[in-house]
Amino acid sequence: MMSNIIDGKQVSLEIRDSLTEEVKKLQKQDIQPGLAVVIVGSDPASQTYVRAKAKACNNIGIYSEVYELPEEITEQQLLEKIDELNSDMRIHGILVQLPLPKDINEQAVIERISADKDVDGFHILNAGKLLVGQDSYLPCTPAGCIELIKRTGETLEGKHVVVIGRSNIVGKPVALLSLYENATVTICHSRTQNLAEIVKQGDIVIAAVGRPKMITADMVKDGAIVIDVGINRVDGKLVGDVDFEQVKDKASFITPVPGGVGPMTITMLLQNTIVACKKSV
Ligand code: NDP
Repeated sequence: MMSNIIDGKQVSLEIRDSLTEEVKKLQKQDIQPGLAVVIVGSDPASQTYVRAKAKACNNIGIYSEVYELPEEITEQQLLEKIDELNSDMRIHGILVQLPLPKDINEQAVIERISADKDVDGFHILNAGKLLVGQDSYLPCTPAGCIELIKRTGETLEGKHVVVIGRSNIVGKPVALLSLYENATVTICHSRTQNLAEIVKQGDIVIAAVGRPKMITADMVKDGAIVIDVGINRVDGKLVGDVDFEQVKDKASFITPVPGGVGPMTITMLLQNTIVACKKSV
């Protein structure tokens, strides 16, 4: 029997192979894509993500710089760092790892990044362009979700996509991207009534909540495609928002955690950095 598990690592490797080729071509023209990753404080999860992003860059030939700034840094100092990176010719993409310490205004920091270097796609200009359907840097996790769905060979057109979560970084943009793929989209959140009934209508279910195993088998339609964005630490292990072991027998396709959406997020970041580099020359 063919596996119905969507291997995000494998899909990522395939895409990264072609990105490596693109980087080589650019290097032949003496062009070197560069990404700067800024992290404030010592949150272990954030540090893991930042290291993974830098390593992924190195593996495919993208130049990367990591700035580890102390928890006590002021907003002004952080903004100055971003200004510096905005005018640094070697740097085509800037990523500030979220969340930031409480007394720093996250939105102000994101807005300070030049929209041309906003490879996370969180800048208000890129978010606005996405809303009205103009070409923009797509936020990495949502773009990764859509790519994984397409890789199943299924189309989103005409399907009912149920998104659980409405954050600016996952839920809302993945709903918009699904809409642009001509899906019919429902967005659920913490105030949604009859969540189970609504999720059960989904031909495609995208869970982006941050509550371990909240999507159970009884909530999922037979044959649905299930994309699990959630990353939750339970007893030292990573689990998604979907009860994978039970739901996998009902879904036509399902992403595991880890090894599903996570690697794709980084792959899309690499892709955006290469696009940013090409645009700059
Ligand atoms: P947020 O906390 O910003 O958003 C969570 C959303 O879930 C909110 O819209 C909230 O609703 C909704 N929600 C909370 N409780 C319920 C509930 N009981 N029923 C229905 N909806 C609920 O999280 P993010 O969007 O940033 O991230 C979501 C998950 O994805 C997290 O586990 C995060 O770690 C993971 N993640 C994974 C990434 C990856 O690369 N794989 C990248 C980014 C995030 P309301 O708006 O009403 O509060």
